[in-house]
Amino acid sequence: MHKNKFWNEELETLSRKQLEALQLKSLQEELAHAYANSPYYKRAWDEAGVHPGDVKTLAELTKFPFIDKKTQRDTQGVGSFLGELAAVPEEDVVFVSTSSGSTGVPTLSPFTAQDFDEFQDTEARLFWQAGIRPKDRYVHALNFALYVGGPDVIGAQRTGALCIWVGAVPSERLLFVLKTYQPTAIWTSPSYIIALGEKALQSGIDPKKDLSIKKIIVAGEMGGSIGATRQAITDIWGAELYDFYGLSDIFGACAAHCEHHDGLHIAEDHIYVETVDLNTGALLPPGERGELVFTTLRKKARPIIRFRTGDIGRIDISPCKCGRTHGRIYVDGRKDDMFIVSAVNVYPSDVEYVIRALPEISNEYTIRIFEENYTCKYEVNVENVSDQSDTAIHELVVNALKARIGVKPAIVNVHPNGTLERSTHKAKRVIDQRTETVAKSQGE
Ligand SMILES: [Zn+2]
Repeated sequence: MHKNKFWNEELETLSRKQLEALQLKSLQEELAHAYANSPYYKRAWDEAGVHPGDVKTLAELTKFPFIDKKTQRDTQGVGSFLGELAAVPEEDVVFVSTSSGSTGVPTLSPFTAQDFDEFQDTEARLFWQAGIRPKDRYVHALNFALYVGGPDVIGAQRTGALCIWVGAVPSERLLFVLKTYQPTAIWTSPSYIIALGEKALQSGIDPKKDLSIKKIIVAGEMGGSIGATRQAITDIWGAELYDFYGLSDIFGACAAHCEHHDGLHIAEDHIYVETVDLNTGALLPPGERGELVFTTLRKKARPIIRFRTGDIGRIDISPCKCGRTHGRIYVDGRKDDMFIVSAVNVYPSDVEYVIRALPEISNEYTIRIFEENYTCKYEVNVENVSDQSDTAIHELVVNALKARIGVKPAIVNVHPNGTLERSTHKAKRVIDQRTETVAKSQGE
């Protein structure tokens, strides 16, 4: 059934026109379903004076109001267990995950049996796109507890690969699995795979020689698409790195690299992507950088219509060299993580880019954002792994950050190697100490 290269060749190589026609048809059905069955959408759209029947083109979706995390929290549990955004009775729901969001109340993401089946078929397509094949031994090293990425292992199994359900276990245990079973592929976070590689080397295991990992899938942080971080990972592991992007509100993986590693193909048959201006919410043309807004096209349990993801990025809808026509997204960072120093927008991913490109310092770092005299400043902590003095490293880091970002850090602390905390799974590298007033004045 599956040709060698594609999971679903017809769907993955539709012309732009065919793909948009498919999206429009699905969108019209999704809006009608949401309006008829979700108390929230019915009320919000009536108030906004819009109706699903008015949508004759994809562009007309812009008439509909946005939703965001707050909408989800405010409507959760209201009227029924699943809340007012849900569009099916609880009996039809077979699975829920919760958001891993570090702030506020976690939100539930429900799936019907059909939603779940389509979720896993999509994951299988993205794994296949990342080169996972029946001959692979795949280790799923993601948290299973409540997390939407957990069930993705079922999608991996659909490719025919031999799947090892490891979950989030201590590094020693994971290294035992890698050494004993010699798997060829693994999924974890970018910082954890670096920390795991260092741990392996310390315990006398050289990942390149003693292990068989050929493909590493990462998600959950920016690093997987940052060239210097990718290099740091391949230097340790000698494996090919695939970046995935997921959203707890939709799928564990919504988008993934293909073999060209140039942007992440998003499953456009399931998700309609808009890019909007951060402040005004106005629609931007494809290719421009803004906030990514997602609309589900097929999800029945809880349709997501015009959800502001809080992720800053862009979409390229031009065909990819791999032959797939689904657009590619490039994510630069979280809107909440952005900070403004002397009128320059700074993303922690920019800082990471600089740090990972300097061989004189280790891959571990932290950023502290603080204020002084009502102005936002930033501090960077790094580890010296060179023969040079800390003063020389200080100078090097300051100049590299100034050159890449345009504004110097107020403070750079140079620490001895091995003294910054090693991350497990999702790294917390940004400490935000801005007061609410300063943070708010930064154009939330
Ligand atoms: Zn491609």
